[in-house]
Amino acid sequence: MKKSTFLVIGGAGYIGSHLVKALIEQQEQVVIIDNLSAGSASAVLGGELIVHDFDDREFLDNLFSSKHFDGVFHFASQIVVSESVKDPGKYYRANTAATLTLLEAMRDHKVGPLVFSSTAAVYGEPLYTPIDEQHPTNPLNPYGRSKLMVEHMLADFASAYNQKYIALRYFNAAGADPQARIGESHDPETHLIPLALQAISGKRPPLQLFGQDYATPDGTCIRDYIHVDDLASAHILAIHHLNNGGASGIFNLGSNHGYSVNEVIQTAARVTGKDVPLTYAPRRPGDPASLVADASLAKKTLGWQPKYTDLNQIIEHAWAWEQANS
Ligand code: UDP
Repeated sequence: MKKSTFLVIGGAGYIGSHLVKALIEQQEQVVIIDNLSAGSASAVLGGELIVHDFDDREFLDNLFSSKHFDGVFHFASQIVVSESVKDPGKYYRANTAATLTLLEAMRDHKVGPLVFSSTAAVYGEPLYTPIDEQHPTNPLNPYGRSKLMVEHMLADFASAYNQKYIALRYFNAAGADPQARIGESHDPETHLIPLALQAISGKRPPLQLFGQDYATPDGTCIRDYIHVDDLASAHILAIHHLNNGGASGIFNLGSNHGYSVNEVIQTAARVTGKDVPLTYAPRRPGDPASLVADASLAKKTLGWQPKYTDLNQIIEHAWAWEQANS
């Protein structure tokens, strides 16, 4: 069978590198563009890595003129919500305007389809839970708005130029490669599971637990943690869906199950056999009490079936990666 060639933009980052791994395992040809501002070349387990900014029309023109791609995955973005509030220009430039450069280049060279990394942050404060794709979008910060604007651009480009796309709204990406070759490593790190595990290993100060007065059963925030390998498998199904004539669209990716911050901390203690060093802090601004996905549309339409639905296993993989990486 003829293998495909895919372009992965931001493929040296946390989620992108897990997609590259999955594509390589399926013997696909992969070209990765990453400027390594946040990702790492060592996270790219195969394929051809081009170290370059993707927001460069001449560069994209040369690339698209010289190589054929059967699809593009776009992961490269700025992701720190608090920074987006202080420096929105950076987010609209890197996440929104740069993606417009990509969309126009893809349009002019007739390259497609595109799978885009969106986020549950487009929903804002939930009006009901679990959240399906029909839930109104009302992002609470420039990060969420910078991604939602891309979703609007994608829909407009699809109707004007027939450019096919799928936007995947991730809930909380977590876990690591089960063989601990790659995993989560952000700088700055803001995510609960790596911060809790690195507090245990002594690499970081005690975890600050943000808010114990939410309207949830134990007072701490509830989130839907989804294994990064399950996110990767959804991307592959999404591109095949489009290449097999499926319609463009938007899908939630989550586990349909919420865990409180306290439950995550208890699970981290169980998995590692050590208590999480903790301090208690006020609520972090902009954190909704509960975010849980209804991901039934992705399951029904794409045939997606997450493999790692147990939080113990997700944290076991993250812990093995932390140990391998320290
Ligand atoms: N959280 C926390 N301490 C931290 C980081 C996160 O208590 O140092 C909480 C945060 O308030 C949220 C949950 O953990 O309720 C998940 O946060 P994370 O930043 O991992 O993901 P988000 O849901 O913000 O995308």
